[in-house]
Amino acid sequence: MLEQPVALVTGGSRGIGRGICVELARSGFAVCINYQGNERAARETQRLCDAVAHPHGLGSDICQADVGQAADRERLVQATLDRWQRLDVLVNNAGITSIGRLDILEATEESWDKVLGINLKGAFFLTQRVAWEMTRLTQSPPPNFQPTIVNISSVSAYALSTNRGDYCISKAGLSLATQLWALRLADFGIRVYEVRPGIIETDMTAAGKDKYDHLFTEGLTPIRRWGTPADVGKAVAALVTGALPYCTGEVINVDGGYHLRPFPR
Ligand code: NAP
Repeated sequence: MLEQPVALVTGGSRGIGRGICVELARSGFAVCINYQGNERAARETQRLCDAVAHPHGLGSDICQADVGQAADRERLVQATLDRWQRLDVLVNNAGITSIGRLDILEATEESWDKVLGINLKGAFFLTQRVAWEMTRLTQSPPPNFQPTIVNISSVSAYALSTNRGDYCISKAGLSLATQLWALRLADFGIRVYEVRPGIIETDMTAAGKDKYDHLFTEGLTPIRRWGTPADVGKAVAALVTGALPYCTGEVINVDGGYHLRPFPR
């Protein structure tokens, strides 16, 4: 059995997922970088991971799969196991925003099915599949085995956008799913966490760049700047390297303090 722990990160090709992959590679993980369509970006993440990884480590690899599709999820898990024979960490990061960002009075079932299918159903059933694998591995654990699952939700799990209803619902659902899995898997020694990013500078938020630049100077977040993919990656790395050994089902806000609610003075 290989000694190096292995992490599978969905949507690892760009943005927050890339930040997570790099921080996990830096923390000693071999990383399976999942992507949906952008192979070039996935290769760039792989290059960045290899640049920070231990020189005698197992390296990282990329794997195309649409997490919204059952057959793809199965292929993704199998590819990871075929390559490394173990799976220590799953990060459910892949996600899309609402198609067309329509007001909920106009929202379409097409967007609902797509957003919920990737952001919530995909994460839920990939967790289910990986949980079986992790429980099997706990029978005869490989060295340094600390099975952990991290769901990347959003402040949209509680902050309401009426032009992205399906997205908000997908993230609120993912938050609840985190608690369900944390409860169910605790007996197997598998910890499950929710990391809740605020406004992070990625392709997903690029269209709102000017608006948010202004809002940060106005104090939208107590820490007045954009979040970065590395900010989220460092939080995930802390969790999966055992920084919170007696915690499960916990929410870690990576949002510059956005969730704080000052009482009016
Ligand atoms: P992004 O820049 O748009 O990147 C999305 C990533 O997800 C890409 O790697 C993409 O792969 C992958 N992806 C999309 N659909 C997929 C599918 N069906 N199967 C597998 N992979 C898929 O987004 P981001 O801003 O980094 O967001 C990452 C996660 O953080 C999402 O869950 C998002 O909801 C959440 N989040 C983001 C923010 C923010 O401010 N940016 C805030 C809170 C939460 P390809 O490159 O192949 O297309």
